[in-house]
Amino acid sequence: MEVDVPGPEARVAIVTGAARGIGAAVATRLAQDGLAVALLDLDEDRCAEPAAKITAAGGTALAVGVDVSDGTAVDRAVQRVADELGAPTVLVNNAGILRDNLLFKMTEDDWDAVLGVHLKGTFLMSRAVQRFQVEARWGRIVNLSSISALGNRGQANYSAAKAGIQGLTKTLAIELGKFGITANAIAPGFIATDMTAATAARVGADFEDFKKAAALTIPVGRVGTPEDIAHTASFLVSEGAGFVSGQVVYVAGGPKD
Ligand code: NAP
Repeated sequence: MEVDVPGPEARVAIVTGAARGIGAAVATRLAQDGLAVALLDLDEDRCAEPAAKITAAGGTALAVGVDVSDGTAVDRAVQRVADELGAPTVLVNNAGILRDNLLFKMTEDDWDAVLGVHLKGTFLMSRAVQRFQVEARWGRIVNLSSISALGNRGQANYSAAKAGIQGLTKTLAIELGKFGITANAIAPGFIATDMTAATAARVGADFEDFKKAAALTIPVGRVGTPEDIAHTASFLVSEGAGFVSGQVVYVAGGPKD
């Protein structure tokens, strides 16, 4: 059978929120898979460290500072990636923040900030990148949702954003499929990162105790690592995953929905 697609070495990927945590692990894994990777985050200097590690290991990486909730800045950043690395055809929307509070204490700012980064940011980045994907007649979009999409106390803003990302993902899959573009979401459970460390600190728990308590509720008996998510992203981005689209993959050490 003839296979007429360029190899992964021809691909350029953008990973948002790539300065640390899950985003840094995904960027590193995609570089190991042979993709050139643009690491986007609020602070370009903080992306420089994971980008330098990728470059030192023989990969291709570019650090770009951008606020994903700002449409003008997003368009400029995506164009910079295209100019410096080549047309981006892989996008991992991972940037995120938490502003947890019970509903009666949640401010409009808490709501707008979380919806702005997660949901609007995913929309803006996808809109900016899709034109390169459509032109290439090939693309992969992977959006970070969460098990909190199913509802979580203290996270009205975050759970709404993460559920919204699932609907957005399915719509992207429907609209963009005819151009050879897939869109899928990963919904992680508890992953040990600065984000979950901050949650532990907010509730006054020691992070090690917090992780041990979480592991007791997880069927595989441990919390997740950023590499667990990177492995799933690697699959969804791969050449062979072109018939997997519009899916939400719960990566949570057990069933969730
Ligand atoms: P993290 O360690 O807090 O990293 C998130 C990164 O996103 C940070 O570098 C942050 O920069 C950046 N960021 C925030 N706002 C941004 C903006 N407006 N524009 C660009 N970058 C921005 O988080 P993580 O734990 O790796 O989580 C990554 C993703 O997975 C998030 O979408 C999160 O909701 C999702 N997720 C995580 C878990 C978990 O258990 N960790 C579970 C489910 C889903 P600053 O440091 O400057 O804010």
